[in-house]
Amino acid sequence: MSDLQPVRGTHDILPEDHRRHRQVTETARQIAARYGYEEISTPVFEFSEVFKRTLGETSDIVTKEMFSFEDRGGEQLTLRPEVTAGVARAFISGGLAQHLPLKFFCQGPMFRYERPQKGRQRQFHQIDVELLGVDGPLADIEIISLAAHILDALGVADKVTLELNTLGDTESRQSYRTKLVGYLEGFKDKLSEDSLARLDRNPLRILDSKDQGDRAVIADAPLLEDHMNDASKAFFEDVQKGLKTAGIEYKINPTLVRGLDYYCHMAFEFTTETLGAQGAVLAGGRYDGLIEAMGGPPTPGTGWAAGVERLALMIAEPPGPARPVAVVPIGQAAEAEALSLVQRLRRAGFTADLGFSGNLQKRLKGANKANAVAAVIIGEDELAKGAATVRDMETGEQTEVKLSALEDHLARYR
Ligand code: ATP
Ligand code: MG
Repeated sequence: MSDLQPVRGTHDILPEDHRRHRQVTETARQIAARYGYEEISTPVFEFSEVFKRTLGETSDIVTKEMFSFEDRGGEQLTLRPEVTAGVARAFISGGLAQHLPLKFFCQGPMFRYERPQKGRQRQFHQIDVELLGVDGPLADIEIISLAAHILDALGVADKVTLELNTLGDTESRQSYRTKLVGYLEGFKDKLSEDSLARLDRNPLRILDSKDQGDRAVIADAPLLEDHMNDASKAFFEDVQKGLKTAGIEYKINPTLVRGLDYYCHMAFEFTTETLGAQGAVLAGGRYDGLIEAMGGPPTPGTGWAAGVERLALMIAEPPGPARPVAVVPIGQAAEAEALSLVQRLRRAGFTADLGFSGNLQKRLKGANKANAVAAVIIGEDELAKGAATVRDMETGEQTEVKLSALEDHLARYR
């Protein structure tokens, strides 16, 4: 342990990175609001059961990635690895069923014990939307359109590809599951340990395995799409039609799955090739059985989450902070005046800085370093006249301005 280092996989977010994060989160929040999604926040930790029940005991997250601990009262708690489970828990414990449909936007830190690399951290951030209470394809079209809209507004639309798949309804998935397990049973000696563990409880996830041996087996596995009943096909077609109408391009990826039983119909992901191994930017799907599986009233739901760090790496450099007006007093009497002046400017909406110490030259240097647009210089002469010398920091041009007219004069620098 080295206590002065951040914990492995965690990062300080310094101002420059914060600007990028904020650009991502605020763009998402604003656009989500146009679609009627209002922000909610759930706690960053929950009872471990919340995640075990929703993510499934065999998922990577539950088996390998959770930060879990016992608190002083002996409760088993987990730092949230994702937010859907918390939202579902909030829906149930808050008795929100009477307010359906509900559209939520969430953002904040998530925690997963993973091997850190570029775009993969142990504390990372997500933006997330959840739409509860709508069982038809219009809901899926809406959340995918919202995702595409946000990616477009962030200027990354041309760096991502939307991949879609359908898991079908319960009937289709069950019939496929039986077929798949029957097929995989024949290759028990070839499957990886992880996949063998999933064979009983979460066989669909085997399709998503990155293990070479598994991939060879999967290559000839029966296909999900051959087991769709008419209702499932219609749902998937409706979503595709909707996306076409909205002008959203996609490609179908038949191995894109979410293995757990309460996922159904849509699974989708926006992927990129610009982030090396971390190709997943935004991922989502429909989870009609989830709230019921947690003990709530049967409630359909669909949603997605995107990694803020990954998006932050992809966007163009956001504009820096507003350039300040520097107030530069010379002499003690002027300092008192400057103190009230800088406050007055800030209250009038200017970004204003006070040159803290040294002679005029040193303070002007400081103003330059602070990237000031203008310096408001007050010396004894100026004080006597109730005026200031305003220096344009780009041109060096100086103008004497009455203190009472200062805001008007500085308006050009806003
Ligand atoms: P991956 O395949 O990269 O592990 P995932 O399937 O675990 O992703 P989800 O659980 O679907 O990811 O989370 C949604 C999004 O959150 C991902 O698309 C990604 O952008 C982001 N994300 C997931 N895990 C991390 C992490 N450890 N660090 C940074 N971002 C992450
Ligand atoms: Mg992962």
